[in-house]
Amino acid sequence: MNKQSILVWFRNDLRSHDCETLYRASQDAQQTGVKIFPVYCFDPAHFDKTHFGFEKTGAFRAKFLIETVVNLRESLRSLSSDLIVRVGHPDQVLPELVQQLEIGAVYYHAEVTTEEKTVEKKLGSILKQLNVSFKSFWGSTLIHLNDLPFGDIAELPELFTHFRKQVEANLTIREVFPTPDRLPSLPEGTEIGEIPTLARLGLKEPAPCDRAVLQFEGGETKALERLAHYFWDSDRLQVYKQTRNGMLHANDSSKLSPWLALGCISPSYIYTQVKKYECDRLANDSTYWLIFELLWRDYYRFVAAKHGNKLFYRSGLRGTDIPWEQDWKRFELWQTGNTGFPLVDANMRELASTGFMSNRGRQNVASFLTKNLGIDWRMGAEWFESLLIDYDPCSNWGNWNYTAGIGNDARGFRFFNINKQAKDYDPQGEYVKHWLPELMEIPVTKIHQPWQLLAVEQKRFNVRLGVDYPHPVVDLFTSAKANEEIYNNSVYL
Ligand SMILES: Cc1cc2nc3c(=O)[nH]c(=O)nc-3n(C[C@H](O)[C@H](O)[C@H](O)COP(=O)(O)OP(=O)(O)OC[C@H]3O[C@@H](n4cnc5c(N)ncnc54)[C@H](O)[C@@H]3O)c2cc1C
Repeated sequence: MNKQSILVWFRNDLRSHDCETLYRASQDAQQTGVKIFPVYCFDPAHFDKTHFGFEKTGAFRAKFLIETVVNLRESLRSLSSDLIVRVGHPDQVLPELVQQLEIGAVYYHAEVTTEEKTVEKKLGSILKQLNVSFKSFWGSTLIHLNDLPFGDIAELPELFTHFRKQVEANLTIREVFPTPDRLPSLPEGTEIGEIPTLARLGLKEPAPCDRAVLQFEGGETKALERLAHYFWDSDRLQVYKQTRNGMLHANDSSKLSPWLALGCISPSYIYTQVKKYECDRLANDSTYWLIFELLWRDYYRFVAAKHGNKLFYRSGLRGTDIPWEQDWKRFELWQTGNTGFPLVDANMRELASTGFMSNRGRQNVASFLTKNLGIDWRMGAEWFESLLIDYDPCSNWGNWNYTAGIGNDARGFRFFNINKQAKDYDPQGEYVKHWLPELMEIPVTKIHQPWQLLAVEQKRFNVRLGVDYPHPVVDLFTSAKANEEIYNNSVYL
């Protein structure tokens, strides 16, 4: 066997289109006739517990990941190759494969967050000893790291608006890498390995939920289908800016985040499709806004690259020492959707039942946890990490930093007025009734403030406060005022 064989290590880039590692490997293989071994490793570290004791990868995301890996294997088989799958720590599994398969080079996409970088470092030093080259590529953002208009990542602006204006002034989006036509087949007898079941990963099948906003299914094929449906079949891209804050309907927003998080679809591919849509159908503020949101995603990744571990510190990117509470009783009310604020509760129950929540919902529940309950924001971030199908460390921890008021873009104590948000974004109460059927009979005028129901109204609308639905855990404005004082009195570390 040729010592120059290439191992393509798949991580959060589980696709065959616009996949530079696979593309470069196939080019090199064509020129030199070497073999390619695509590998995915289910890392037990991802299925461990978080700091606060939640499952690091809960069943919703694990299921989505398994579906994605199954689909990647199918795609690679259709290109005459296959996907080698192992369960184990990459810094153990990959060196073993390297030796067994006589690999000369490992190609991979670089990550930016601490745990992922630590694995890269360990692996890099082992491979160096084995005299195997370890070649890193950049493939997760719309704008390539090397095309940023700042000399160095240390120069990344601390405000998103400054970042956006500078990158938009000279927007460089690289072309999508084509999917290889064909890959060299694996040598006969290569042990490809079984894709683990949820049970093997220590998880139970999540209960199906017919109330879910969308039945997300993992994989590149489903990702491309979702884009085709949202852009082309239902033509919803043209109203994205007006509808994106909706919480109830599948087509309120693109719902591409779970596939983006695992790299089933690339942001550059989405960009080319937006440009095609602008050419073939129309260009308006909605088509621009989808790209604008992808820039937020890029920004959080670059912020993580710039600030490293600080993203996960209690004091956040700004280094603010806020005496957060770790009040588990109140935290549980938030987790289970029992705070007595229908907008918060409906969103938290949606998350617990489906692994998804809209952006509007996330902003509200995160603000409520930190600005009304004064609870340690990292408990919320870890709960999201455990449940979200679209969990992405940069976007999750970056947004939590921002919402908790300790991020790089913090502009003082800003809290979401849940009552106003509920009226603005769920004016008929349809969303809260969807997730809180016990409030079904309450009229629109009172749906978002059930605590105002008189005893006679509770009887008429079939809901007993404190029995069928909880009393509010705090007073919205008194609690925000108290937390604002704490925030304003906290010191920088
Ligand atoms: C507290 C909190 C935690 C979050 N955690 C995550 C997370 O773990 N993973 C994640 O992908 N998003 C996260 N977000 C961002 C956002 O809520 C989701 O990306 C969005 O709801 C996904 O739905 P969509 O694909 O329909 O979005 P769309 O509105 O259709 O947006 C298109 C894409 O733009 C990106 N995007 C949109 N808004 C944001 C944003 N605020 N930050 C970063 N990227 C954005 C996403 O990739 C999204 O798929 C979080 C937001 C908050 C407030």
